[in-house]
Amino acid sequence: MTLSFNSEMVFIGGKWRLGETGQLIDLINPSTGKVLKKIARGTPKDIDEAVKAAQSALDSEWGSMSALERGRVLMEMSRITLNHVDELADLETNDVGKPFSQARADAVAMARYFEFYAGACDKVHGETIPFQNGFTVFTMREPHGVTGHIVPWNYPMQIIGRSVGGALAMGNAAVLKPAEEACLTALAIGEIAQKAGLPDGALNIVPGIGNEAGAALSAHTGVHHVSFTGSTAVGKLIQKSAGDHVVPVTLELGGKSPQIIFDDADLEDALPFLVNAGIQNAGQTCSASSRILVQRGVYQDVLDGMAERYRALKVGQAKDDFNLGPLISMRQKQIVDDYLEVAKSDGLEMIAQGFFADNLPQGGAYVLPTLFGNVPADHRLAQEEIFGPVQVVIPFEDEQEALQIANGTNFGLVAGVWTKDGSRQMRMAKNLDVGQVFINNYGAGGGVELPFGGVKGSGHGREKGFEALYSFSTTKTVAIKHG
Ligand code: NAD
Repeated sequence: MTLSFNSEMVFIGGKWRLGETGQLIDLINPSTGKVLKKIARGTPKDIDEAVKAAQSALDSEWGSMSALERGRVLMEMSRITLNHVDELADLETNDVGKPFSQARADAVAMARYFEFYAGACDKVHGETIPFQNGFTVFTMREPHGVTGHIVPWNYPMQIIGRSVGGALAMGNAAVLKPAEEACLTALAIGEIAQKAGLPDGALNIVPGIGNEAGAALSAHTGVHHVSFTGSTAVGKLIQKSAGDHVVPVTLELGGKSPQIIFDDADLEDALPFLVNAGIQNAGQTCSASSRILVQRGVYQDVLDGMAERYRALKVGQAKDDFNLGPLISMRQKQIVDDYLEVAKSDGLEMIAQGFFADNLPQGGAYVLPTLFGNVPADHRLAQEEIFGPVQVVIPFEDEQEALQIANGTNFGLVAGVWTKDGSRQMRMAKNLDVGQVFINNYGAGGGVELPFGGVKGSGHGREKGFEALYSFSTTKTVAIKHG
């Protein structure tokens, strides 16, 4: 059976209805520039109703379900997701402009998040603490209550899977505000949750504009935790807004993640990762490896190997499933084009570019993947998050300089290190200012089980793995004096 949700509705308290004003926003297919669908422009009142519906779910059926039962519902969400993988991938391909096979991988990953958190529900618990004689002291692990989830457009399924999946596993009730640029799979998750038997109000979905519906969610006094994935600029606003009513936030923000290649690295292993981690999803990935740091002894070999791969990269309509689709919007294309202009006027060394498929639609947001060499570490293209398929290669002399360059941005999300020297692997892992370090790989295939998040401008708090379950819960200490 195919999914049948109506994209113009909000999903509140288990019911699909029009938003308060009935106003709609156009969703654009970035491969063609044409209107794909319309979604609701949710208002603060819609958000308020969603928060109240979440609270009443906690006060009724959802709040009284055992961890085992919650796990079974999440497992059913995983199973139903797997039954609709191609359909979900199709929605994402048209909505985000993501090549079909990448969109399909996202749908499978979302099912895996639900599966992982289904199994984890009844495995997170409190502790008994040795205390004074005559006392028994223990902690109970409890949900925060209503959790707010504000997500971006680049990986809707994966980000909702990890964020909402973790929150539901711990028994929270969620209100989700998807991005206005890409909303279809978020709404599909509402239908999947319903089909899986998730009680009404445990998950509510209100599409809308960031500074309207999003701002209302982060400021709502009935929300007890906010999970935000998006830009550093908006992350700062969210933290301030949640701070006004003193609730915790998880901030998954941007990055300028390096891969560092030492002279002794296995280049044949490294090269596909160096390029793929920069151009996957057309570079619109928070953990994109947009900086490639190369030791002088292999600098030319790495540059030549990357250039060869770049020249083979084909850009086309997402449905045609080439290496890259379009960017999410003409606005994002303009941002990337402006960086390419800066590179040109500053005389950066352009090493290679990909190529366009024939007969691309006029209105599509296409850019060519572009590789720059010998880029100074303090140049804007080596410091700022571009969020497009642009990589800079920076040479270095020794380990100390590599660390200095790697840690020398405002971000700290992910780093990759390529070396066979075990001692160096450990030193680098300890000294890199990031949330994840990959040695002789990058990304570990997505790593649903692996805690993920940043330091510095890349945010704080962790999602994915068991760590997320601690972020989505709190402890209560109980001290019993029994003599
Ligand atoms: P964005 O910050 O503009 O938007 C993200 C979400 O926040 C959207 O749902 C948007 O509607 C909402 N929003 C915007 N303004 C708001 C406000 N004032 N109050 C509340 N909500 C508001 O980011 P984007 O352009 O959609 O996404 C790209 C950014 O996201 C990049 O910087 C990227 O690195 C980051 N990102 C990070 C991760 C991660 O896990 N670390 C993952 C994906 C994307």
